Amino acid sequence: MPKGQHYGRARTRAYTSEYHRINANVFKSLLTKPLGNYSLNTEHLSNDHQKLTLKENKNGIRYVTFAINDKPHHIALKLDNRSASNKLYITCPYCHKQRQSLYAIKYAYGCRKCIGLHYASQSERPNERLMRRIRKLRKELWGYDWPDVNNMFEQVAYWPKPKWMKWKTFEQKRGKITELEKKYWPMVITQMKTTFGDNFISDYQN
Ligand SMILES: [Zn+2]
Repeated sequence: MPKGQHYGRARTRAYTSEYHRINANVFKSLLTKPLGNYSLNTEHLSNDHQKLTLKENKNGIRYVTFAINDKPHHIALKLDNRSASNKLYITCPYCHKQRQSLYAIKYAYGCRKCIGLHYASQSERPNERLMRRIRKLRKELWGYDWPDVNNMFEQVAYWPKPKWMKWKTFEQKRGKITELEKKYWPMVITQMKTTFGDNFISDYQN
């Protein structure tokens, strides 16, 4: 297995809440202050992430520079004059796109896209969504206390009919779950293959 590949998934699955976010608003006062050295007053940030120099280019655009790990990070401050609110945007040092916020990571500031962060809700994979749905439908039939209700390795084919339910209704509902279960495993296998490449050997037999 190539080095690092094993942990590829863990590395890319970071959530934005784990990082410190700075909003463009934080810099708004710098639009009118004298050029020079300033510091962000936040205990969550490293020294390098706090200290900045305010400069202005020859076109009159103000930008701040952070020296993080001895490398300069330039972030332009851009006021959106088209809107009545005069919203301030800051540019990402990597893609130079205007953003409402940037994230502090170990040796950089970057936008969500460049850092590759996911919001928790966006990061749910289709198979995870399907798993949630299967578990929900199972609970409707067998209840939260049923021993294997969350166990995806168990299939519902031989689980008993709840006493109060008509056979016809039960078979219909169970059939629906079975149908979803059949979709679930191939999806998981496909996703594992993308994550682990050819190093993953499938036990699944269709
Ligand atoms: Zn970016």
